[in-house]
Amino acid sequence: MTNAYDVIIIGAGMVGATIACGLAPSQLKVAIVDPVAPPDFVAGEQPHIRVSALSYASEQILRNVGAWKFLEQTRICPYRHLAVNELPAKDGIAAVLPDISTWARTRFSASDIGQEHLGHIAENDLIQHSLHQAMAEHGNIDIQCPQRVASMDLDGPSKQVTLEDGSVLSAPLIIGADGARSQVRAEASIGQYKEQYEQHAFVATVTYSGSAQDITWQSFTEHGPLAFLPLAGKVNGGPDDSRDRHYGSLVWYDYAGSIDKLSGLSTTELRKVIQAAYPATLPPLVEVHQTARFPLFKSHANQYVKPGIALVGDAAHTINPLAGQGVNLGLMDAAVLVETISKALVSGSDHFSIELLRSYEKKRRIANASMMSIMDAFYYGFENKHLPVRVARNLGLGLAQRLGFAKNKVMKYATGVSGDLPRLAKPA
Ligand SMILES: Cc1cc2nc3c(=O)[nH]c(=O)nc-3n(C[C@H](O)[C@H](O)[C@H](O)COP(=O)(O)OP(=O)(O)OC[C@H]3O[C@@H](n4cnc5c(N)ncnc54)[C@H](O)[C@@H]3O)c2cc1C
Repeated sequence: MTNAYDVIIIGAGMVGATIACGLAPSQLKVAIVDPVAPPDFVAGEQPHIRVSALSYASEQILRNVGAWKFLEQTRICPYRHLAVNELPAKDGIAAVLPDISTWARTRFSASDIGQEHLGHIAENDLIQHSLHQAMAEHGNIDIQCPQRVASMDLDGPSKQVTLEDGSVLSAPLIIGADGARSQVRAEASIGQYKEQYEQHAFVATVTYSGSAQDITWQSFTEHGPLAFLPLAGKVNGGPDDSRDRHYGSLVWYDYAGSIDKLSGLSTTELRKVIQAAYPATLPPLVEVHQTARFPLFKSHANQYVKPGIALVGDAAHTINPLAGQGVNLGLMDAAVLVETISKALVSGSDHFSIELLRSYEKKRRIANASMMSIMDAFYYGFENKHLPVRVARNLGLGLAQRLGFAKNKVMKYATGVSGDLPRLAKPA
């Protein structure tokens, strides 16, 4: 027997689950499928390794779809400042230049743009956990997790998805929110442009001593950036523990060979190596807990839509995580697609017409491509070791700091405080 729905979402990650919650008030009958069971939240547990810097706009989206109230009860860390600088070169002619890395630093503060915070650092698993709790509040969302897709038939006006338990789902609209290796994208024969970067990212969950930090920073070095993100919660050493220790997440971008070396170190050795390599702004490290490495690539689907099919999030595009924008772009795809569909329903139109889906693609492709270009400008701009380029970018950082009005305008746009935003990305 075939179960008929209005929309089938493949992938219940952060982006897919946001779309399901966003569509729920429209009373569409939605099925969402993912082979992985939703992650649990265990209070007092060490933070999970994958974290995201959620922008102000992403926070509004998660609030408006009803997930933020659950996320707040888990672990999230607001950040109020953001800093970028370049560390002095260790060798070559650039090493004899005076160290102006403190002058040549751009620092943004939430108070400069009249905000309480610039964003929050949250664990990906907990964002997903909160969205699953929000989905469970809606009777018109059929959550098929864990359930594996056995096959898809995307030809014709009624799309069919057969699950491994033998059940068959059908709908006029199928949304591919199934990540960078999207099965929907492949089944729909949508090609993509893909390019691997030379650098890899090495991520570590650490504890540091001292007061809780409310700043995220990134220091550019000759091998790539070193970044620090504060995480929520004091380290729980029991009722008699009076030590001031907190969790943080570090990212070290470097060439594969160097990351191999870091991966081979014991956590004790790694702590020393990180402390020595990172700028003095890194608080004293107490322990390195968990590490992971990720190859970095960017990709962009040749089309986001086909008749009855739409791609969102990493299924449509992946971006250099340099400025932590991946999930923010995906959540904005979700907000725009939900708004496009909701408006069509209000005006009595079909929620799956190709004209409608194309209007979603038009809005998001330009925005996503622009962010990819900005990240590449940063990546390749800071990779350049030539002395004049180095001097110019240090001057640029120093001047950016001193151009208050322009800097604040850029910041408002980047955090999603201003700009042409869909309804879900605005404060309710
Ligand atoms: C090192 C690193 C650091 C990053 N840091 C940040 C950051 O700070 N901020 C930020 O915004 N972004 C960051 N990103 C990017 C961010 O993690 C991704 O953009 C985000 O996870 C994309 O969300 P998604 O829901 O589109 O895809 P995913 O998170 O990949 O979720 C896809 C879902 O689909 C499911 N799925 C897969 N295949 C199938 C199938 N065949 N059928 C059904 N379901 C399927 C999966 O189980 C999963 O639940 C980072 C990425 C990397 C590599």
